[in-house]
Amino acid sequence: MTTTLSISNPATGTLIAELPADDAASVATKVGRARAAQPAWAARPLAERKAAIVRFRAQVVAELETLAATLTAEVGKPIAQSRNELNGFLARIDFFVAEVEASTADENVFAGAGMTERIGHEPLGVVANISAWNYPYFVGGNVFVPALLTGNAVLYKPSEFATLTGLHIDRLLHACGVPDDAFITVVGAGAVGAALVGQQVDGVFFTGSAATGERIAVAVGPRMIRLQLELGGKDPTYVADDADPKAAAESLADGAMYNTGQSCCSVERIYVHERIHDAFVAAFLDTVAGFRIGDPAADGTYIGAITRSPQIGVLEEQVADALARGAELRTGGKRIDKVGNWFEPTVFTGVNHDMLLMREESFGPIIGIQKVKGDDEALALMNDTRYGLTAGMFTRDEARAAKLLSKVNAGSVYWNCCDRVSPRLPWSGHGDSGVGVTLSRYGIQTFTRPKAWHLRKP
Ligand code: NAD
Repeated sequence: MTTTLSISNPATGTLIAELPADDAASVATKVGRARAAQPAWAARPLAERKAAIVRFRAQVVAELETLAATLTAEVGKPIAQSRNELNGFLARIDFFVAEVEASTADENVFAGAGMTERIGHEPLGVVANISAWNYPYFVGGNVFVPALLTGNAVLYKPSEFATLTGLHIDRLLHACGVPDDAFITVVGAGAVGAALVGQQVDGVFFTGSAATGERIAVAVGPRMIRLQLELGGKDPTYVADDADPKAAAESLADGAMYNTGQSCCSVERIYVHERIHDAFVAAFLDTVAGFRIGDPAADGTYIGAITRSPQIGVLEEQVADALARGAELRTGGKRIDKVGNWFEPTVFTGVNHDMLLMREESFGPIIGIQKVKGDDEALALMNDTRYGLTAGMFTRDEARAAKLLSKVNAGSVYWNCCDRVSPRLPWSGHGDSGVGVTLSRYGIQTFTRPKAWHLRKP
C-alpha cells in the first residue's frame, strides 16, 4: 500500500476520508489470495453460500440508515434516493437467492440407448468486479451477489467516488460468513482498475463509461476470458399524440432528473409529437420547477450534487453548443454558484441531432425535447445513436407501442414508463452501451461456464 485515496463530499467539497490505496503489487497479491481461496468456496454447498448472502441482506437492513448516509455523503445522492437504492438492492438479493439454484442446476437434456446428455454449470473462478459510483449497490451487487452465490471468488473495485460504500459492503460480507479471500476489495482509481484487469482473472465485469469500457476491451481481448461491459446510454423516449401529456411529462421529468440525472438509464432525449408538444413542455417545466434542490442529506431534497466535478464542464459544453446551434433554453443552464458541484435542472426545446446535447451522454440534470411529426420520424431519431441501452414510448395504444419498440435498437424498452430496472429481466446494452447481461437468470448463468456431459453407461 503506497498511495492514498482522498474522498470528498461533492455537495460541500469537504474531505471526508483518506484511505490507503492499492498498487499493482498489492493487487497481484490479492488476486493470488482469491485464486487460492476460490476452490474451497465453490466446494461449499450452495445452501451455505446462500445463507451467507441472506445474513448479509439482514445486515444491510440493520444498518440501512448508516449505509444510506455514507452513500449520500460520498456521492451526493439525495438521502431518500440512497434509501431507495438500498431497498431496491434488497429486492435484487432476494431474486438472486431465490433463482440461483434453478438457474444453475444440472439439466439432463437427453437420455436414450444407454446415453445421457447433461448440461452442468461451473463457476468461472476468480472474477474482477469494477464498479461505477452512481448506483454502487445496484451495479456492484449485480455482479458480486450472483458471482459469490455461484462459487466464484470476487476482486471488487468500487469506484474511487464510492469507496466508503465499497468498504461497508466488504465489512458486511465478511461479517456474514463470506471468507476474507473469497471477496477482496481493491481500493483505488483507474490505474488500480487497470492493474486488476491486467491480472490472470477468469472474467472481467465492468460498469462505467464507454471510454473506459473500450480501454478494458482492448486490454482483455486477447485473453479469451469472459468480458462483460455495462456502459453508458443516450436513452430516448417518444411521446405520441394520443398520450396524456401531463402524465408523460411527470414521469419523464423524473426519469431525466432522478439521481440528479446520473443514471445509465436516465431519459436523455425526448421526442414529442407536434400535436401535444406545447402541452407536454408546459407540464414538464412545471414538474421540474417543483424539484427541490439542496442538501442531499435533507429529507425532501430531490436534486443533489453532481458527483464528479469534471462532469460540470461536460454539461456546460452541451449547453453552450445547444445555444450556439439555436436551441431554446427553457430553464436552468448553468452551474449553481455555491461550494461543491451543483448544476441547475436544465430543459431545452428546439433541439436537433446536430447538438451534443442530443448525441453524447449528458449524465446530469439536463434534457433536450425535440418536436416530431410522427412515429416514423421518432423511430429514426431514436435509433440515430451509437448507444442502445433503453428506449421508451408513451401512447395509449399498446399495438402502436409494440410496433415501434420492436424496431428500436436497445436492450430494454418501456411502454408508458422509463428509468426502470427489474431483477427479473435481463439488463444489457446494444452498440456502445456494452456487451453481456446482468440480472435475470441470464445474469446468474453469466458467472458460470456450461459444461457438456456425455455419459454412456458401461
Ligand atoms: P468510469 O468509466 O469513469 O469508471 C468506472 C470504473 O472503472 C471505476 O471504478 C474506475 O476507477 C475504473 N476505471 C477507470 N479507468 C480504468 C481502466 N483503464 N481500467 C480499469 N478500470 C478503470 O465511469 P463512472 O464515472 O464511474 O460511471 C459513469 C458511467 O457508467 C456512465 O457512462 C454510466 O452511464 C455508466 N453506467 C452504466 C450502467 C449500466 O448498467 N449500463 C450502470 C451504471 C453506470
